[in-house]
Amino acid sequence: MKFQRYDVIIVGTGISGIYTALNLAPDLRILMLSKRELTLCNSALAQGGVAAVMDKENDSYELHIKDTLIAGHYKNNLDNVKILVEQGPTDVMKLKDKYGVEFDLKQDGSIELTREGGHSRRRIAHHKDTTGFEIETNLIKQVQELKNVTVVNNSVLCRLEKQDGIFFADVLAHNDIPNGQEHQYYCADAVVLATGGIGRVYDFTTNSAIATGDGIQLAYNLGAEIKNLSYVQFHPTAFADKKNRECFLISEAVRGEGAYLLNCHKERFMQKYEPERKELAPRDVVSQCMMKEQELTGSDEFWLDISHKDPEFVKGHFPMIYNKVLEKGYDMTKEPFPVYPCQHYLMGGINVDGKGATNIPGLYAAGECSHTGVHGQNRLASNSLLEALVFSRLIAEDINKNRTNDKRDTVEYPMTSPEGAPLPKGIRTEVRHIMQKAYFITPNYEEAEKGLARIKELKHQVETSGYAITADFVETKSLVTVAYIILSEVIERKDKE
Ligand SMILES: Cc1cc2nc3c(=O)[nH]c(=O)nc-3n(C[C@H](O)[C@H](O)[C@H](O)COP(=O)(O)OP(=O)(O)OC[C@H]3O[C@@H](n4cnc5c(N)ncnc54)[C@H](O)[C@@H]3O)c2cc1C
Repeated sequence: MKFQRYDVIIVGTGISGIYTALNLAPDLRILMLSKRELTLCNSALAQGGVAAVMDKENDSYELHIKDTLIAGHYKNNLDNVKILVEQGPTDVMKLKDKYGVEFDLKQDGSIELTREGGHSRRRIAHHKDTTGFEIETNLIKQVQELKNVTVVNNSVLCRLEKQDGIFFADVLAHNDIPNGQEHQYYCADAVVLATGGIGRVYDFTTNSAIATGDGIQLAYNLGAEIKNLSYVQFHPTAFADKKNRECFLISEAVRGEGAYLLNCHKERFMQKYEPERKELAPRDVVSQCMMKEQELTGSDEFWLDISHKDPEFVKGHFPMIYNKVLEKGYDMTKEPFPVYPCQHYLMGGINVDGKGATNIPGLYAAGECSHTGVHGQNRLASNSLLEALVFSRLIAEDINKNRTNDKRDTVEYPMTSPEGAPLPKGIRTEVRHIMQKAYFITPNYEEAEKGLARIKELKHQVETSGYAITADFVETKSLVTVAYIILSEVIERKDKE
């Protein structure tokens, strides 16, 4: 079978995938894949902003490093935290000056910085409450102008194999194709997995529909090291709406600008558990405090209240959140609105070194699917976009240095044709229910043991029944693999306690 050759395949068009492409040498032939439309990704949903030391008078690298380590419970990789913090401001300035990203500015033209939980200083560069969309759409425009980059949407990477130093990719293109879908075959010397998070392994998540952990599954099956996949972050304030699986996030910046968290009696409670940091403690701490308060009051009702602030300030800073909450029936400038924690972010992932390289030569991982170790056990707010930028650039620099001179347009490689019975329905729903019961904020070990036993059966079924390779099959395989690794780690960790 003939595989069309590129120098680099980047899987993912979120901020980490695109920023990698923008930093690669202009004469490299690059293919970028997005499994749905280009902007359906977690990057486009980011509200709060990018954390970086931009105001050297009132802030310092030491303080940003310290805050990152405290939030991460000192389980961070210190060398990579230093890279993140010290190199980050240059990338943020590059977004503004080179790629036309508009951050909110102060009257003197400098970037206006806001504050979020766990940060001891104002250091979040933002574009109102739609920072991710602003960055994502500007970078996509830039990458689409590059002649050496081919960007394709609605194309799912299904299989990835490696032989003689070359990666072979089976990609399923869907929609807009006469028969609905078609397999396409590509190969490259280097592959960058920038496939995002795993939120869809839970019943309730802030993540977009693409967050099924495909890159992690593909890397795992190729023999890449996966690390700390059980370091899952649950955000304390998603809009409480049990009807929707994709929960609308209420950015931490709302608490950063003074919002109070209230219990079912509409009373503040964080001061009981966190007398100093109160609502601005790191995310995992706030979520855990909410669970304690729930036990105390016997109610899962929580509220967020910023109605004591000037309404114009609230609408000006959080226009998107204001409108969404209004659609749901609450005017946040006048009244509290209901919130509850849900799955939000993955700290662990495909293990990489300080250049974003995995243990498999030529395979890189960037952004949320990677584990650089910068977040430790709990990510400090707005450090993930920063990580996506800094480590994607470093990946590009490493690929630029180690490029080969292979000029072939196609390479022959034997890959079997994917045919088989359709995947039965219901597996994804079962996996989600298992995860929600076994590990929400803190593990429930009894449910985790039971859940893991069932997940092993499902994983075996998915891997050995010869189902047809469809997008649904790939995502289901990813979800069972991710659930399997998370629950195995949870139980392993309990055994060590
Ligand atoms: C609601 C929300 C708010 C957030 N707010 C902030 C914030 O304020 N600050 C901050 O720092 N972080 C924030 N985050 C986290 C941050 O947005 C993400 O961690 C980051 O954007 C991830 O970028 P990424 O490029 O790694 O992945 P994504 O942006 O999720 O992109 C993943 C890409 O991979 C592609 N893909 C996946 N699987 C396949 C496959 N099999 N084949 C082909 N393509 C595939 C997808 O199509 C997509 O293009 C937020 C996250 C959410 C969900």
